[in-house]
Amino acid sequence: RLEVRGLKRNFGGLDVVSDVSLSLQAGQVTGLLGPSGCGKSTTLRIIAGVDQQTEGEVWIDGQMVAGPGVFVPPEKRHIGLMFQDFALFPHLSVGENVAFGLTGTRTEKRQRVHTLLEKVGLGSFIDKYPHELSGGEQQRVALARALAPKPSIMLMDEPFSGLDNRLRDGIRDEALSILKEEGAAVLLVTHEPEEAMRMADEIALMRAGQIVQRGAPYNIYNAPVDLQAAAFFSDVN
Ligand code: ATP
Ligand code: MG
Repeated sequence: RLEVRGLKRNFGGLDVVSDVSLSLQAGQVTGLLGPSGCGKSTTLRIIAGVDQQTEGEVWIDGQMVAGPGVFVPPEKRHIGLMFQDFALFPHLSVGENVAFGLTGTRTEKRQRVHTLLEKVGLGSFIDKYPHELSGGEQQRVALARALAPKPSIMLMDEPFSGLDNRLRDGIRDEALSILKEEGAAVLLVTHEPEEAMRMADEIALMRAGQIVQRGAPYNIYNAPVDLQAAAFFSDVN
C-alpha cells in the first residue's frame, strides 16, 4: 500500500507539483492522467526515490520513505519501475535481464525467471538477446523484469507509448492481467485518456501540478469536473 501526502516539488521558483495526495491499494491500478508537463513523471520519480520532494511525505506499507528528514534510497523501497525508455541491458540475455536484481538461490531465481517469461508469453526467448526481439517483445521482458522481485508497488510511466496501436492493445491487456495476478498496487502514468480508461480502476486527473478530480473511469468520463476536463476526454470513444 502506497500513500502520498501533500507532495510538492519546486524547480527554480516554480511548483511543478503543488499539492498531490494519492493512495494506492494492492491489486488496483490507479491511473495518473493529465496533459504533458502537468507533473506526472515528477510525482512518480519522487515516489520511486530518484527525485526528492520540496514538501510532503511518501509512505509505503506503513513506513515513511520520504518526508522531513527521511529519505529511504530507491533500492530499499521495493518498487517495480517501468518506463517507456527503460531499456533492457543489451549485453545480457533475456533471462539474465529478468534475473537482474533478484536475490535468492540460483534455483529460486531460475524458477522465478521461467514463471515470468511464461506469463508474458516469451518462455522460449530466455537465451535470446534484446536486439533479437521486437519492440513489443522487449516491452514484455521489461514487464517481467520489473515484476520479478515481487514488488508490492509498481510504477509505470507511459510504458506502452513507444508501441504501435495494434501491438499496444494486446500488451496492455496482457500486462493488466499479469499485474492483477501478481497483486501489486499499480500507479500508471499516462497522458492518454483512452489508456487510463482502459486500464485503471481509479483515475486521478492531474493538471498544472494538482489533482483536480478522482474517481472511477466512467464517472470521470461522464461527469468531468469542468470544461477543460471534458475537452481532455472528448477524443475518447
Ligand atoms: P509528459 O506527459 O510530457 O511526460 P509530465 O506530466 O510527466 O509530462 P513532468 O516531467 O513531471 O511532466 O514535468 C513537469 C514540469 O516540470 C515540466 O514543465 C518540466 O519542464 C518541469 N521539470 C521537470 N523536471 C525538471 C527539472 N529537473 N528541472 C526543472 N524543471 C523540471
Ligand atoms: Mg512524463
